[in-house]
Amino acid sequence: MALKLFNTLTRSVHEFVPLDSQKKKVGMYCCGPTVYDFAHIGNWRTFVFADLVRRTLEFSDYDVTHVMNITDVEDKIIKRVREQKTTLREFTGKFETAFLEDLKTLNCLPPKQTPRATEHIPEIIALIEKLVARGVAYKAADGSVYFSIEKYRGCGCHYGQLLKLNLDEMRAGERVASDEYEKESVADFALWKARVSDDGEVFWPSPFGEGRPGWHIECSAMSIKALGETFDLHLGGEDLKFPHHEDEIAQSEGATGKPFVKFWLHGAHLLVEGKKMSKSLGNFFTLRDLLAKGFTGREVRYLLLTAHYRETFNFTLDGLAGAKSALARIDECVGKLRDIAGDFKTSEFAKQATDSLLVKSFSAALADDLNISAAWASVFEWVRETNKHIADNSIPDHEAAFALAAWEKVDSVLGVGVKAEAEVPAEISALADERTAAKKAKDFKRSDAIRDELKVKGWVVEDTPKGIKLKRI
Ligand code: AMP
Ligand code: ZN
Repeated sequence: MALKLFNTLTRSVHEFVPLDSQKKKVGMYCCGPTVYDFAHIGNWRTFVFADLVRRTLEFSDYDVTHVMNITDVEDKIIKRVREQKTTLREFTGKFETAFLEDLKTLNCLPPKQTPRATEHIPEIIALIEKLVARGVAYKAADGSVYFSIEKYRGCGCHYGQLLKLNLDEMRAGERVASDEYEKESVADFALWKARVSDDGEVFWPSPFGEGRPGWHIECSAMSIKALGETFDLHLGGEDLKFPHHEDEIAQSEGATGKPFVKFWLHGAHLLVEGKKMSKSLGNFFTLRDLLAKGFTGREVRYLLLTAHYRETFNFTLDGLAGAKSALARIDECVGKLRDIAGDFKTSEFAKQATDSLLVKSFSAALADDLNISAAWASVFEWVRETNKHIADNSIPDHEAAFALAAWEKVDSVLGVGVKAEAEVPAEISALADERTAAKKAKDFKRSDAIRDELKVKGWVVEDTPKGIKLKRI
């Protein structure tokens, strides 16, 4: 079934057709994290959305090169490096590691490439040189190099392809040096920022003088290097449309003279309890904050995947509790199917499963601009029907294996079928190990006390012939 997506560039839903002449390979770039802090739950909505797009494309048999950059030099990072009197690499390294760990916790497939901006300075400089040579970038009196929107438009290029911008209100010659700026100030933006004392040790030599790249040019240089001058898909949160993505288009098309990206996909924002997240409102959550409250990555992933990507999503802790019970319904059904299937291998049914009702209705839902509510509805309808058949003993073992194969196919996109056991927090497994050691030492008072402590923390420990098993209550 043809996959249809909403392209911000054309402002309409249309069929996704890759640029590749064989219609097989797809290049996909998602603006990655700015590693100056732990990623928050809003950021995670966007990265889980990117994972959904990638998995849907793979489900549709495309060979996807998924690239997600790491922004490891920009204004906010430099400010914190200065405040914390540390080095750029030391500072960004810890948040990059945490980000990649969180990505795993949420069961997002690792991107094929995660380029760092600081490792692409030569490519960035080369791109700026091209823009200068083409007359659309210039060095200003402050020593920085800026992109000239006027010159770019003068060449017949279109600035403002994603958003309708009121360019007539633009004041000629106005410039912005900061990486983030407001819509009202459409202006020439910095490609290379001349070194200033506040930058400390964060600078590189260049033909334009010592300095550092602007945020926008980083993404143009890394995406072009990884995926070529024109590629299929570019993703990000909706706040990035302007200025970041408009600037990426201008820089890239200004340098190459070719269309930059065929499909632009933007994910809507996440609110918490109906409000914009902010530390002062006390509604700001990182993934780690939620894990500390006893939720799992799987539950967070499920919840983030319940809303359509173009709708604002209201994240609540009650919603997370609901995610737990929804997943329990799936787990119970899948567990029973496993028991019935016995030694039958699901892999033997993988091909046939494509024709199952579940896979067909699920794929039709996804093909319709990632209609995730319809996709979940087909899953829960399947759970209901399957439970009925299990209850009246009408599923033989090979049919149970077929049903499981269909579920596995669907879960290759949803990514929530990971076993709960795999998600035992380190603190809980340490306690369980301590209990095992106490039992071995015949210290039953201690082992019982640990069992009670685990219970308080929401876990039961079962002794099985194969060792202990930890289960959420
Ligand atoms: P940053 O690390 O700030 O560059 O952001 C990483 C990604 O998270 C970008 O694609 C942003 O658009 C996205 N993002 C930031 N805040 C939110 C939010 N509240 N909801 C959804 N996505 C967000
Ligand atoms: Zn970007």
